[in-house]
Amino acid sequence: MSANEYRARLENVEKRILAACQRAGRDRDDVKLLAVSKKQSLEKIQEAIDCGVQVFGENRVQEARAKIPRFSAQLNWHLIGHLQRNKVKYVLNLFQMIHSVDSPRLLHEIEKRAGNTMPVLLQVNVSGEGAKFGLEPSQTAELIETANEMRHVEVHGLMTMPPFSKDPEKVRVHFANLRKLRDQLEEETRTLLPELSMGMSHDFEVAIEEGATWVRLGSCLFGPRNS
Ligand SMILES: *Cc1c(COP(=O)(O)O)cnc(C)c1O
Repeated sequence: MSANEYRARLENVEKRILAACQRAGRDRDDVKLLAVSKKQSLEKIQEAIDCGVQVFGENRVQEARAKIPRFSAQLNWHLIGHLQRNKVKYVLNLFQMIHSVDSPRLLHEIEKRAGNTMPVLLQVNVSGEGAKFGLEPSQTAELIETANEMRHVEVHGLMTMPPFSKDPEKVRVHFANLRKLRDQLEEETRTLLPELSMGMSHDFEVAIEEGATWVRLGSCLFGPRNS
């Protein structure tokens, strides 16, 4: 792949994001693109940087620790994968946001170890079907209230990862449910929760129509991942 190839993919994705925003009557600036660089080579990431991409998502701590220090400190990196408590100490200086906080114990560990403010999203299982990770919707209000008492952790919103379906219309209901949960939580906890991280390569347009503010896109930008 060359930077030109990356640029062509990025332009195509940009068009699709814009069209989804227009269908939903949303402002293009309200949707942010997270380029998911997991399992992509340093060269491919550099091509993305050359095209102006500045925010990247990684899902594994070990891989991120090897990669992130190789790039300019001007870039932003978000952790989107499951985080074990014993790895928290490694991620606080690497990532500017954690999308995958999925337990009270993890939240407490981040608070304990963080030296600066750490923005986080709560990962919620809104689809109910055997998702490996994610809080139950009923656990979220209490966790936000706990976080509101903390010094370093700031909950900026919610993240979800519905089960894969070839037909994106099948997951629309889950995205809509995450947005409804957010609206309820804002009222119940009197906390602003502006960010909704939802939508991947195969379903991001539906997610944008349902209110996504972060779409996490890997293969539609970079092409297939190395296994
Ligand atoms: C891999 C991954 C993505 C991106 O997946 P694509 O289908 O390649 O766009 C998004 N979110 C999470 C949590 C991931 O692990």
